[in-house]
Amino acid sequence: MYKVIIEQQCGCVRRRDMALESNFSDKDDALIAASQLAQKMNDEFCGKHQFSVRQEGNDMMISMQMRG
Ligand SMILES: [Zn+2]
Repeated sequence: MYKVIIEQQCGCVRRRDMALESNFSDKDDALIAASQLAQKMNDEFCGKHQFSVRQEGNDMMISMQMRG
């Protein structure tokens, strides 16, 4: 089982009431879903935060950085 986890939430995530964790049986599916999600969050959210995917074992963590 592979998980996509939103590791840190800014207000945009909370306002949208997003699922913070989703499960995949296939690793590639999880990776693709994670990168699409991070891309979407970068495109649609406030722009103050930058989201990127980090792989930790079977987990794809979506982490947040403040944008300079
Ligand atoms: Zn935000």
